Amino acid sequence: MYPDDNSKSRALYERARAVLPGGNTRTTVHMSPYPVYLERGAGCRVWDVDGVARIDVINNFTAAIHGHAHPVLTQAAQAQAALGTAFGMPTAAEIELAEGLAARIATVDQCRFTNSGTEAVMAALKAARAFTGRAKIAKCEGAYHGSYDYAEVSLDTPPSAWRANAPVSTAYAAGTPPAVLEDVVVVPFNDVDGAAEVLRAHAGELAAILVDPMPNRAGLAPADRAYVQALRELADEIGALLIFDEVICFRLGPNGAQPIWGVEADLTTLGKVIGGGFPIGAVGGRHEVMAVFDPTDGKPPLPQGGTFSANPVSMRCGLAALDLLDAETFARLDRQGDRLRAAIDEAFAAAGLQGHATGMGSLLKIHLAPQPVRDYRSAYLDPEAARRLKALIVRLLNEGVIVAPNGLMALSTPMTDDDIEQIADAIRRSLAQLARQ
Ligand code: PMP
Repeated sequence: MYPDDNSKSRALYERARAVLPGGNTRTTVHMSPYPVYLERGAGCRVWDVDGVARIDVINNFTAAIHGHAHPVLTQAAQAQAALGTAFGMPTAAEIELAEGLAARIATVDQCRFTNSGTEAVMAALKAARAFTGRAKIAKCEGAYHGSYDYAEVSLDTPPSAWRANAPVSTAYAAGTPPAVLEDVVVVPFNDVDGAAEVLRAHAGELAAILVDPMPNRAGLAPADRAYVQALRELADEIGALLIFDEVICFRLGPNGAQPIWGVEADLTTLGKVIGGGFPIGAVGGRHEVMAVFDPTDGKPPLPQGGTFSANPVSMRCGLAALDLLDAETFARLDRQGDRLRAAIDEAFAAAGLQGHATGMGSLLKIHLAPQPVRDYRSAYLDPEAARRLKALIVRLLNEGVIVAPNGLMALSTPMTDDDIEQIADAIRRSLAQLARQ
């Protein structure tokens, strides 16, 4: 049972505290009183250092769409490792993955690879600035796009700073330069009129509108089609680029998120699943925009490098991961996701608790809130709800199911319908226990 002061995880955490601040090197995996340390994974299960097996529904924060140690991906990684893992020269692998992405995403003619989604978003924002000659960017309140200073603005604006229809540019990290806040315009999510008013007020200054059509931190509620389509029209009206952040949402379908929302983006940012379990990011778009990276005639408008960018291990495993994602696989993930969302809603009702699941396809999020979640503010957890969510996550851990500390869940292709039922059962039992508290 977690927590256990005599566990090997606890001992590792104590050791970690000496050399890693707070024993941690990735804020998102921090857990109090200590995190569970993993030893290995296979398929949709992981084993911790104390030998406990659980179903993994975090899947490295949505990246591991094929679960762990998938034989095809393991083979791809081993084969490339035997040939060398990264060189100071290009390999054919980067062309193949770029071709694979361009074949899937209608608005991507060309792409540039990075090592993370954070860098992909950074490259996209810089590309939009280089292309338009403008400095400001717009983003949705509460949406996470990685840790580039500009992309982090308004990530956790507290209720005390909320103003009606007027999101404010608040800093996420201490020490964020005030100039960053001045160059980020925050729009409300899922509110066409509110967003239009803010965007028009900054017309002529904005290089880009950055949007994730189903932002996890802002509740994992899908954007209304009308909202995303309005952002597309507003981008054209004010001469800004529309950037679709599909670092997570690309896993919603064989061609990513844009066909689902009926929108064509100017730039698309990618990451996570396209690396087949290895570090990756990518920014893609049409030739005209991507030309800002082109060094053919000397220094390009936007020079971009990265020691491990486009390393052949990430490229080869990414390509292998894409090859495993056919229409049938997405149809199964969609069906399993719908089944689990329905089971979660039923489990809340059966336990007599308020709460529900949001999300689409293989992405889900548990909310302990009575109100429907549409945006950052309706998804906001007060301290009591945050405490109850944490209690639920710990109960689930002890029921053999790992869900992200913020309630996010991502299915993986090795999951069978029986695995989905096991997850649903664990949620039913955990909610029933929570109700008895
Ligand atoms: N954009 C979105 C929508 C994300 O969810 C994330 C990470 N969760 C990022 C960008 C940053 O990606 P990375 O963690 O690979 O830097």
